[in-house]
Amino acid sequence: MNIPRVGTGFDVHAFADPQSGREMWLAGLFWPGVTGLEGHSDADVAAHAACDAIFAAAGLGDVGKHFGTCEPTWAGAPGATLLEEAARRVRAAGFEIGNISIQVVGNAPKVGSRRAESERVLSEACGAPVNVAGTTTDGLGLTGRNEGVAAIATALVVAVGDDESDDQTVTVTEEFPRRDHAADDDFPTADDFGRGFGQ
Ligand SMILES: [Zn+2]
Repeated sequence: MNIPRVGTGFDVHAFADPQSGREMWLAGLFWPGVTGLEGHSDADVAAHAACDAIFAAAGLGDVGKHFGTCEPTWAGAPGATLLEEAARRVRAAGFEIGNISIQVVGNAPKVGSRRAESERVLSEACGAPVNVAGTTTDGLGLTGRNEGVAAIATALVVAVGDDESDDQTVTVTEEFPRRDHAADDDFPTADDFGRGFGQ
């Protein structure tokens, strides 16, 4: 039995100078007439948080490790493109993606106004269902002061193949052989998973 694994991602980018002409890309979409966010790539916080979430769930590190500033290949890359590549790397490591849930935190733009469009673009990018929601912080904090936009994401992945597969989940599988819960009186304790997760 391959136990599903969750991962969390978070990202925030500051608004660019309105005079800079920087485009706003958020949740996989271009938002005309809205000042963009500063960043190494297109600064799509929703897509970046989603990348972090699936990387975390698969134990593959984070978006900075995969697409950071030392990786010029990805400079200016669209968020949806990064998410597509992140999903490819997660699958290459032996996982399938169950779903990704993203919440965008900020005053503008309102992702809810283009939710279906956004979910379609991001779902097609990663090949798994993506949900996009929006919220504000009631005027508090950096997003409440219109300094930037943030996003948080949760992803669920599951290792494909049987427990004996030699994919990159082997660090967990070998050190802590999974038990048959149905035959066990107790579930694995925190000690069972104390090592082998994360990097
Ligand atoms: Zn980012």
